[in-house]
Amino acid sequence: MSYTKALRCRECGREYSLEPIHVCEFCFGPLEVVYDYAAMAGGVTRENIILGPYSMWRYRDLLPVGEGEVVDINAGFTPLIPANNLGRTLGLKNLYLKNDCVNPSYSFKDRVVSVAATKAREFGFKTLACASTGNLACAVAAHGAKAGLETYVFIPADLEQGKIVGAAIYGPTLVAVEGSYDEVNRLCSELADRYPWAFVNINIRPYYAEGSKTLGYEVAEQLGWRAPDWAIVPVASGSMFTKIYKGFKELEHIGLLNNGVDTHMVVAQARGCSPIVNAFEQETLNIRPVKPHTIAKSLAIGNPADGYYALKTIRESHGAAVAVMDPEVVEGMKLLAETEGIFAETAGGVAIAALKHLVAADAIGAEDVTVVYVTGSGLKTQEAVADALGPRLVIKPTVHSFEEAVKEAGKVVP
Ligand SMILES: *Cc1c(COP(=O)(O)O)cnc(C)c1O
Ligand SMILES: [Zn+2]
Repeated sequence: MSYTKALRCRECGREYSLEPIHVCEFCFGPLEVVYDYAAMAGGVTRENIILGPYSMWRYRDLLPVGEGEVVDINAGFTPLIPANNLGRTLGLKNLYLKNDCVNPSYSFKDRVVSVAATKAREFGFKTLACASTGNLACAVAAHGAKAGLETYVFIPADLEQGKIVGAAIYGPTLVAVEGSYDEVNRLCSELADRYPWAFVNINIRPYYAEGSKTLGYEVAEQLGWRAPDWAIVPVASGSMFTKIYKGFKELEHIGLLNNGVDTHMVVAQARGCSPIVNAFEQETLNIRPVKPHTIAKSLAIGNPADGYYALKTIRESHGAAVAVMDPEVVEGMKLLAETEGIFAETAGGVAIAALKHLVAADAIGAEDVTVVYVTGSGLKTQEAVADALGPRLVIKPTVHSFEEAVKEAGKVVP
């Protein structure tokens, strides 16, 4: 059952029919999907969600897709892990990690692309495309392959090898652009005007963005139908951040939560690309674009499309915005791996480092239910940490050589 009604301009409120368009013709504001929440409240129950598939598609009735088959490689319904060890280290009793590393192409981008690819097929497009900071390229290439669509992915040429190979394996046309993500994105906007292609994060962005709401729904369901007290989110364009909050609010609105949404939403960015944090610190809603310089390449968007709305979400939720230095990102990745056994990419390191800042500032109470979104896998960004890890013991294949090496490393064989 689809409860979608229309697209609506977020600025002037004008409504449009559900077409592959993304900006208002009158004021150039971004368009957003609107739903019939009264009907949704009557039709969607916890019981039918629980009986649904173990993927993001258990929330199908809350997403903007029609009745046909969805493009599904089993994105979502990832684990929410009680982080007892990390929590003990930081003095937090109710810390959780939303582990989105374990998605099919190893990042949360599978959620948004599963919706976008489904819409692309519904609209009759033959080609799926994107401008990407890396993970989106992997997700678009994977879903394009599954859907049998022609696929073009555009990336900055200086991306990590893991992301290039992680996209190329699915057989897309991979275009490495000598420029920053913001330049790739501008090029793709021009191409989107020229070719009848479904650019997931340009002309079908209103639908694409809705996929991130499932990161809100799942966490609430996994917490026993409650919204958390804190949600710490690594942010690039700001889209996922705003949609997680929208997800919590929608569940409340249709009567599926046990508590009211009182979640402090926290934007986490790397200081080398922190246009949203900068604006928050300067107490303005106007984003000043920056030129990114950080190891957190998945977050390296200097001119974030949803930055303004992310700032509004911080205000509305009494949240916060935290920027961290690159060495803290590496420390965050190591801390997460060493305490909880999760190898996250740089974006995860950013979120963990931001969590440490909030704990140091006494912002988070020891009992507060706190969720850190770990949005992508570390195997794609190995170069970020490779030089910061402990030495390897290199030995001859003899017991003697082993024991010598252990002694030299200053370890005691148990
Ligand atoms: C894209 C990405 C983000 C940020 O998503 P936005 O919606 O652009 O803010 C965060 N983490 C990872 C791993 C990503 O790939
Ligand atoms: Zn408008």
